[in-house]
Amino acid sequence: MEDIRKHFTYKEKLIFEKSQVGKKGISFTDPLPNYKLPKNKRENFEDIPSLSENEVVRHFVRLSNVNFSVDTGFYPLGSCTMKYNPKINEKISLFDTFVNSHPYLDEDFVQGNLKLMYLLQDALSEITGLSGVTLQPAAGAHGEFTGMQIIKAYHEDHNTGKDTVLIPDTAHGTNPASAAMAGLKVKSIKVSEKGFLEIDDLKDKIDENTAALMVTNPNTIGIFEEQLIEISELLHKKGALLYGDGANLNALMGIAKAKDLGIDVMHINLHKTFSTPHGGGGPGAGPVVVSDKLKEYLPVPVVEYKNNRYFLNYDYPKTIGKVKDFYGHFGVMVKALVYIMSLGGEGLKKVSETAVLNANYIREKLKDYYELPFSTPSMHEVVFNDEKQQKYGISTMDIAKGLIDKGFHPPTVYFPLVVKAAIMIEPTETESKESLDTFIDAMIEISKEAEKNPEKLHNAPSNTIVNRLDEVKAARHPVLKYSSTDSQDN
Ligand SMILES: *Cc1c(COP(=O)(O)O)cnc(C)c1O
Repeated sequence: MEDIRKHFTYKEKLIFEKSQVGKKGISFTDPLPNYKLPKNKRENFEDIPSLSENEVVRHFVRLSNVNFSVDTGFYPLGSCTMKYNPKINEKISLFDTFVNSHPYLDEDFVQGNLKLMYLLQDALSEITGLSGVTLQPAAGAHGEFTGMQIIKAYHEDHNTGKDTVLIPDTAHGTNPASAAMAGLKVKSIKVSEKGFLEIDDLKDKIDENTAALMVTNPNTIGIFEEQLIEISELLHKKGALLYGDGANLNALMGIAKAKDLGIDVMHINLHKTFSTPHGGGGPGAGPVVVSDKLKEYLPVPVVEYKNNRYFLNYDYPKTIGKVKDFYGHFGVMVKALVYIMSLGGEGLKKVSETAVLNANYIREKLKDYYELPFSTPSMHEVVFNDEKQQKYGISTMDIAKGLIDKGFHPPTVYFPLVVKAAIMIEPTETESKESLDTFIDAMIEISKEAEKNPEKLHNAPSNTIVNRLDEVKAARHPVLKYSSTDSQDN
């Protein structure tokens, strides 16, 4: 197979190491007359690297070439939904009128922006069936925290004394952290052999203190929690609520609504399902949707519409308060709404169907080469492990590094923790059959290399600028800032 990364063979020095006293980017023959740089800005001039303009441009363009991105290749990072982000989202979010509007502007000047937020609230409400929406949270975990605050406010308001959240082992790692940060206690629920939440364990653990169950669906093994309706009835009977982690809504849009599954609160990652860049690509947004009875606790302001006018409603006496400055990440909202409107309801349903189809295509093609720890059908992602490769001394880490040599970003590895040495692949709907087939071929080649040439895999990646990194050393002795003395030996 052609190695698409082989042109990255140079070793790029740090910009500080390239600096030479006296070099300049640009010089004006006639500098701005009568203008002197303020003194304080000039004090540490020596610390700023001195290079010519083309050296600076080349430095950064070269570094950008070393990046792996959704725009350069297949990025099957499980649970992260690294789908391709259509460029029209970016174009529209960069309209002057959006970029230059200030959050302090009077409502009458920003009716269009408020309408956009209102339409997005409406669309998320339609997709999930839940009527209350806040767009404020900055990311998924922040949405979880907001949802947990709302649940806590509800129980405090009703004097239930409930303060414990049950969380299955297949939940995303952020779930227990968010519940704990909101001041709730956490108890874990076991996972069955088939990968579902263990309903008998849940029955044992639900008691008068249970405030909510926090469930990721599809769960982190990529499996749809089939008994969710029964589970929600069980909770509601005891006065507890059901929190749904909707970061991975990619498998469900247009197919299953949160409300119909009995979910009371859910956060949604605009930066996964709704195609806004993430993972170093930009800020995200984690809107939260809630059922009717929880609306009064939403963060303020909520965008509303009355008498032909959009406005920010702060009149929510039982609100949990603000969770973010101003109104959240507006630019992300623009991108998400463009995505939703350009696809429409039928288009979004097709997204989910294709995401599930793509994951199952990979599952079928690779199941003879890699062990599937759960036989239950997959949704939008599939989890393998390294059991078949272990006899040759090859681990999940070696497989992941081997993929880098073949030009792919590795899948998520060693997560979820309920699977030993997991390899979690999420192809998303934006990949063509050709791109899936190339990835499948690479995975099959790696499984053969494991048998015939394990040494090569142990040393992978071998055609990148840096090879296998010492991850233990990186964690124990992080070098977090440049220093001219230790740059020599690191
Ligand atoms: C990504 C993810 C989160 C966290 O979202 P962030 O935006 O990274 O905070 C939570 N739950 C699930 C299931 C996820 O996949």
